[in-house]
Amino acid sequence: MRKPFIAGNWKMNMTHLEAIKFIGDVEYKYENKNDCEVCVCPPFTALRSVKNIIDSNALDIKLGAQNMYYEEAGAFTGEISPLMLKSIGVDYVIVGHSERREIFKETNKIVNKKVKAVFVIGLKPIMCIGESLSIRESGNAEDFVLGQLVECLSGIEEKDIINLTLAYEPIWAIGTGKTATSKDANDMCSAIRGKLENLFGKDISEEIRIQYGGSVKPFNISELMSMTDIDGALVGGASLKVDDFIAIVNY
Ligand code: PEP
Repeated sequence: MRKPFIAGNWKMNMTHLEAIKFIGDVEYKYENKNDCEVCVCPPFTALRSVKNIIDSNALDIKLGAQNMYYEEAGAFTGEISPLMLKSIGVDYVIVGHSERREIFKETNKIVNKKVKAVFVIGLKPIMCIGESLSIRESGNAEDFVLGQLVECLSGIEEKDIINLTLAYEPIWAIGTGKTATSKDANDMCSAIRGKLENLFGKDISEEIRIQYGGSVKPFNISELMSMTDIDGALVGGASLKVDDFIAIVNY
């Protein structure tokens, strides 16, 4: 039985003081009637402050980072290592978000190195895959997304794969207000699960959680969550509004 998993990606929003206020407001209104796993992913500069609030209020919310570099330490100016994240209490790391792929030119090879580095240090990746509008319109979305999946998971060991979360995020639906229909989103998540079965066997494929991401809002979350192969959501814009985020958690 896969536990529903709702994660909020704050992107490059909120100073650390704004983040402290925000998580305090979440704490004040928080309920989790579906017993979801819930995670917030603030910018690096707010991670530790948010963690302090979570811990001091015994909030059942996990902490995620939005990115990291795959090396352990050294001359990599401006980068953050997996160990640095682990040492401040991070649980999850988003890897391969489409904004990193598009703006910062991250390839499947780089994403693969990051996923491996996340596992080596004992954190859990939320690995994003998804097609552009032109790929969807060309009819090749499934081949493209499954190709990303295979390349990004190349060489990942079976003992680690169970700790993977996938986020299927069609790029054309991110931050645009256009959501994939629940059926289209679920069809892709089912295809992803089918490929996971080919790669790792049925038992493992049935345990890996697949989130949908792309303009998830309080009004569309419950239909998405009713689909067989959608196990949660990676939420951008709506995770920056306390009431919307809590409403999504309580779909
Ligand atoms: C995202 O950032 O991963 C995302 C899905 O954003 P939004 O919910 O704003 O579309």
